Amino acid sequence: MAKPDLRDSELFKGFLRLSSEIGNDILKTQGAGGNTSIKDNGVMWVKASGTWLSKAESEDIMVPVVVEPLVTALREGDPRAEKSTDFVVSGLNSSGLRPSIETSFHAALRNPVVAHYHCVNAIALAVLEDRDAELAVRMATLPDLKWATIPYRRPGTPLAREIEQAAASEPDVLILFNHGIIVCGVSVEEVAERIGRVTIALSRNPRQTNSPDLDALKAISEGSSFHPASDIRSHTVALSEANRSITLRGSLYPDHVIFLGTEIGLLSEGQTVSEYEAALRLEGRETPKLLIVPDKGVLLSSTLTPGGEVMARCLAEVVGRIPDGKAIAYLTKDDEHELTHWEAEQYRQALDRGAARQSV
Ligand SMILES: [Zn+2]
Repeated sequence: MAKPDLRDSELFKGFLRLSSEIGNDILKTQGAGGNTSIKDNGVMWVKASGTWLSKAESEDIMVPVVVEPLVTALREGDPRAEKSTDFVVSGLNSSGLRPSIETSFHAALRNPVVAHYHCVNAIALAVLEDRDAELAVRMATLPDLKWATIPYRRPGTPLAREIEQAAASEPDVLILFNHGIIVCGVSVEEVAERIGRVTIALSRNPRQTNSPDLDALKAISEGSSFHPASDIRSHTVALSEANRSITLRGSLYPDHVIFLGTEIGLLSEGQTVSEYEAALRLEGRETPKLLIVPDKGVLLSSTLTPGGEVMARCLAEVVGRIPDGKAIAYLTKDDEHELTHWEAEQYRQALDRGAARQSV
């Protein structure tokens, strides 16, 4: 008799519900970021690359992979662990999509349920030079949870190998420097409960700012390829000296680099975007995707996909939560280069562009 399909179970429905809850919280997931998994009988269902967790209940976004062969490949340095596509159970893969680029670390973690997301509160602390001390103070409020930190590595096998090492101690929570968080558990309920408590422990209020000047932004961007960010909270990046200074000094986490690039533009007092674009063309420089207009707000390039636009909001939420006057551990030039020259990411962005076209 054929084994019952996990996807027909209440357990799987609960897993999809949790996935969509994480995906619908902008402070946890932005666009195609974040991924969840559930293991059952040697098969792990994991979010497909380029899909949005927020759609977990309405679309077919979970891809099945075999766990043990993938973990072995990761341990042995087999390059097939990078994309994990060779470990997909084709007969069960109804969507035909590729598994997430972060699949191998889900497989390496032994817990049956794993949630990874880009919690803005966790990232704001995990980019500080003194992150170990800052995180320890907050996590000490949850003494029953076993937690550890993971140094920054490019997502894919470099990050998965670090996580595989940490997996031996069966952690409940992993905080990934300059990236996000992983919460594990034996059941969907346990993971949901832990996510709730960890979120409270790490939460900070964002820095207060004035409101954006949308009329001024419209006038400044008139006739250009930029428009004021439609998500009102995205503007806060431009609305305080501290926020601007943190933003302009470097890149904080991978999705920022992948979707918004390594350069953020800064408009001078009295300059229009058309003048700014003309100046860049003269110098032969590329136009950035996000432009800061000090004390007015943020302008976004019309070339941005929906996945890119939401990264402006993510940046605002992270930067606003970085405490004043703290030294920051930005991604290095090498880290940035690795992220901008990476085939798996280009696939994820191509899917995002496809989604953008379909919605028009
Ligand atoms: Zn991630």
